[in-house]
Amino acid sequence: MLKRFSNIICFIGLFGISVFAQDPIEQAKADVHILTSKEFAGRGFTFDGNKKAEEFLIERFKKIGLEPVDGKYGQPFNMELNIVDGVPQLSVNNQQLKIGSDFLPNSVTGSGSIDGDTPIYYVKSGLYIKEKGINDYSGVTSKSAVLIFEDEVPDSIKADTTIDSRRYSTATRLRNAEVLQAKGVIFLVKRLMFAEPYIRKDFPVFDVLRTSLPMPVETISYKVKSSFNDVEPENLIGTIPGLIESDSTIIICAHYDHLSAFADTVYFPGANDNASGTAMLLSLAQYFKINHPRHKIIFIAFSGEEEGLIGSKYYSEHPIFTLNKTVFLVNLDMVASGNDGIMAVGGVDYPDFYSKLKTVNDSLNLGPLYKRACAPNSDQYFLSVKGVKTFYLYTNQGKQPYHNIQDVDSTLDWKAFNHTLLLVKGFIKAIDN
Ligand SMILES: [Zn+2]
Repeated sequence: MLKRFSNIICFIGLFGISVFAQDPIEQAKADVHILTSKEFAGRGFTFDGNKKAEEFLIERFKKIGLEPVDGKYGQPFNMELNIVDGVPQLSVNNQQLKIGSDFLPNSVTGSGSIDGDTPIYYVKSGLYIKEKGINDYSGVTSKSAVLIFEDEVPDSIKADTTIDSRRYSTATRLRNAEVLQAKGVIFLVKRLMFAEPYIRKDFPVFDVLRTSLPMPVETISYKVKSSFNDVEPENLIGTIPGLIESDSTIIICAHYDHLSAFADTVYFPGANDNASGTAMLLSLAQYFKINHPRHKIIFIAFSGEEEGLIGSKYYSEHPIFTLNKTVFLVNLDMVASGNDGIMAVGGVDYPDFYSKLKTVNDSLNLGPLYKRACAPNSDQYFLSVKGVKTFYLYTNQGKQPYHNIQDVDSTLDWKAFNHTLLLVKGFIKAIDN
């Protein structure tokens, strides 16, 4: 405990000096590099990752000169989530699969272990739609088996408008496995993706890359441990006062949490999602600290985003600054990968603000700009529900891996990042006038 704590202090001390670069892109690269490092363990709820990221960001807030609220930056809140403990093991035909590249525990996984003698059934997509005569489980003749599902549901089923989509949802299919008292479930996936660990099943659930599965499957053994936990992360809030006498505010936000770690070598760095947005928030804070805004700007680094926008929902219900005094909110989430311009979520809802954004974009020659309606896809959502006008900006398309251990900083697109940074700066200045 003591050793770990002293490590954090040394670490922040070390980087606190070395990361202060003049050039905003170099600074952002340094911030992202630290946030995605092994030390921060995927900025989640194993190995104190979220806490370490929080401490690092508070140091950065202080160094930039953001003002705390009532002497502190943190707004604590509670949430529950399923935490995978240790490194899960999975072997097929006595061949050990590699976590992160061949398989991941599904975030809803329960605990359990089996050796190689448990019966295995391949149940296609795991559908049971009686009135259509579909029963993928007809070959299952014993309980307490391992069920192997295709993650994908056939297009013919999805296209059939007479079938309610809940009949083939993942939740329904897992419930089917429950009814059959399955010992464990394996989803065959095209891409590995870890997400939303806020519910937990009583049996192990794995996602296995289809191309990594030795065929034919003869034996399966696995071991995984998880538990439901109550955690207390913090939203981090710092401000720059406005030059004009007004209680109107502009909010810039980005979530700093990500998907944790299974071990110090197997963790989700979350470079694009969302070390990139967090670094951009710091960069904007640095910029507006020197180039004083007319309105007060509130910078919020949210936690709990990956579990279902928990931190931003909490803030929307417990705002520190009156929400209806917000001129506008810009949320940054995944802003350093892309080859097709920038997407403004909310652009459809606020045409006047969108036209300002478009003017900035076009005058700076930043490439394509797209718009879509506000959706519950990132931290702007619950604030927009409360009546705050919001854009959520992300870089469009791009090859950066999503929600897996390959979302590393070495493959980020800094040109896309720079374009987004210039766009936000220009937009904030435009609405600040
Ligand atoms: Zn995410």
